[in-house]
Amino acid sequence: MYSIRRRLTISYSLALTATVGTFAAALYLDRRASANREQEEQVTARLNVEASFGRRVLQEQYRTTQNLVARIPTIGADGPTLGLQRDVGNYFEGIRDVFAIADGQGRLLYSSGLVRELPPAATTRIRQALTRQPIERRAGRMTLVPGEEPFRYVIEPVPGVGDGPATPQTWVLIVAARPEGTPYGPPQLLMSMLLVAPLILVASSLLGYWLAGRSLEPVDDMIAELEAVQDGRSLHRRIAVPPGGDEISRLATTLNAMLVRVEQSFTSLRRFTADASHELKTPLMVLRAGVERSLTHPETPPDLVHALDEALRQINQMTELVTNLLTLARADEGRASLVTANADLRHFVVEVAETAELLGAEHGVTVHTTLPDRAVVAAVETGRIRQLLLNLITNAVKYTPDGGTVELSLEAEDGEAIMMVRDSGIGIAPGDLEHVFDRFWRADQARSRTGDRPGVGLGLAIAKWIVEAHDGTIAIQSRPGRGTTVRVVLPMTTKAGVA
Ligand code: ATP
Ligand code: MG
Repeated sequence: MYSIRRRLTISYSLALTATVGTFAAALYLDRRASANREQEEQVTARLNVEASFGRRVLQEQYRTTQNLVARIPTIGADGPTLGLQRDVGNYFEGIRDVFAIADGQGRLLYSSGLVRELPPAATTRIRQALTRQPIERRAGRMTLVPGEEPFRYVIEPVPGVGDGPATPQTWVLIVAARPEGTPYGPPQLLMSMLLVAPLILVASSLLGYWLAGRSLEPVDDMIAELEAVQDGRSLHRRIAVPPGGDEISRLATTLNAMLVRVEQSFTSLRRFTADASHELKTPLMVLRAGVERSLTHPETPPDLVHALDEALRQINQMTELVTNLLTLARADEGRASLVTANADLRHFVVEVAETAELLGAEHGVTVHTTLPDRAVVAAVETGRIRQLLLNLITNAVKYTPDGGTVELSLEAEDGEAIMMVRDSGIGIAPGDLEHVFDRFWRADQARSRTGDRPGVGLGLAIAKWIVEAHDGTIAIQSRPGRGTTVRVVLPMTTKAGVA
């Protein structure tokens, strides 16, 4: 999944790419259009100047010499070729564009160097343009070299010139040229844009990533603070509200208000559980005393004894449940603080092992105990540690079929006391392992509480609370059909602590 930061950066970069791209394309197209226009104007202006220069030179030269034509003897031709007088032709030598002159009969008298460089077809086209009727001033475009850009041309009639004093005619001249690219024209612009655009995009994406990170920092802080609200005991925590009244600070305020409401309902639920279990304790005690008295009464008819026995069993189970509930409710409220004293854990293990052997004998389960030679001293509350071990050992015996074994062991390692309860029982499915410490969770919910494996699902929840209240850890490993191992690690008291 993408983080908001990455998504923001990606969409920002995409938007920027689109914007920069559109801008660059618009700039390029506009630049190209105006460059074309400028070139067109430049060329047309130059052609006009050259055309009128040609006309004026021809007319002035005719006025002084009365003949502009020379007959040039040519080897290989039928007769002499017609051309401009050398003096007149010299005027046009400097013209770099297409420049050609035809006389009144359409004979080509002069063509510039460029015309001679072009393919013969171009000369034909020029000749056609020169002889096109009516003879008048024209401008336009024409293709001289197929496949290449067309030439802009100007056709200029030159009246009052000729090859003799008595016969003034109207000649025609043509000038044509191709627009030339400017030194920094659209192609160069495109190149620069292609070079600069990636740099801009990379730089601004990095900047965007950094900015997104900065603006999401308060959210990260908020996540960290909310993660600290782990259970009922940390519900009193509140999130720091960033100043400024922006969305983030409003979110923090809203979350805080929600935490207040959750805390309130959590507290009333906890109080209700604590009060209810507390209120139930006394009636249960009275009930038990009554049933016990009736059981021991000599006049109780024997057929009632059985019913009373069952009632006593149920009352005992209920008392245990109520006690467990009260324990957890008090633990949640933080009222179940421990009164610890240094004690050798071996005593508890030995004690519990005896109970386990009795329990095991009932169920056909063998119990082995392993103890270290040296004392394993830890600061513990006697009653709680006993309860912890009892809960684990009852589970081990309860969930191990006839003929199985339960191992109980204690060892000291690196300043830690490690208690293990291992059984060869039915085990727990991998998917269920994460739930075993949940309150009221049982692998087989449907199984009746009074069936062959009675229980309500609070044993491990209490065990976990006891271990954690002693700053220890509890972990469970299991393979279905192969058995279960519960490992409890408690911090040991150092030598100095014992003294
Ligand atoms: P309670 O302990 O409250 O009488 P319980 O034994 O069912 O009831 P927990 O001790 O909390 O409740 O255990 C929860 C569940 O975890 C059990 O119902 C059982 O499914 C499973 N479980 C616990 N210990 C073992 C074990 N040693 N082997 C197999 N399953 C176990
Ligand atoms: Mg149990």
